[in-house]
Amino acid sequence: MKPFYEKTIHTKPIFQGRMISLQVDEVELPNGQTSTREVVKHPGAVAVMPFTTDGRMVVVRQFRKPLEKEIYEIPAGKLEKGEDPASCALRELEEETGFAAESLQLVTSFYTSPGFADELLYIFEATGLTQGKVHPDEDEFVEAQLISLEEGLELMAAEQIHDAKTVFALMYWQNKRLKAQLGK
Ligand SMILES: [Mg+2]
Repeated sequence: MKPFYEKTIHTKPIFQGRMISLQVDEVELPNGQTSTREVVKHPGAVAVMPFTTDGRMVVVRQFRKPLEKEIYEIPAGKLEKGEDPASCALRELEEETGFAAESLQLVTSFYTSPGFADELLYIFEATGLTQGKVHPDEDEFVEAQLISLEEGLELMAAEQIHDAKTVFALMYWQNKRLKAQLGK
């Protein structure tokens, strides 16, 4: 198999923010020609699928500026430098929803937008939830809500669940239920 590697000839830093940086890389293509790639560097993030014992999942409603709309998402947050993804997941869950989890399991990880960003997202399943107090970041306005799978699918159809990690969570949940019904 022929590798499709793109060698970086030059990196031009454009912007360094609190969370992300943007750079434009000049690259040599596999056919020898050159092109440019606009790349966002991101520290990585975690998301949690918190399942309650009565068969519901915790989502948070929040306004997303890039989309100019409110959506429902599973709790998530970016990794601090050197932070362990599991402890970050427990922290974000508690901050945004007030729930503490007894058990946390890594389900998978995926790149959210490989076309322009290196953000890697770890997704955990949290169970054994106990309700405590919410304490979101100063500039974070979120509201936790418990939804059934059916309500989640309705929210997705209405484009109120409209991001990749939460759509993944619904598909994971649907699959989990199907397996339980089939006794697997
Ligand atoms: Mg968050």
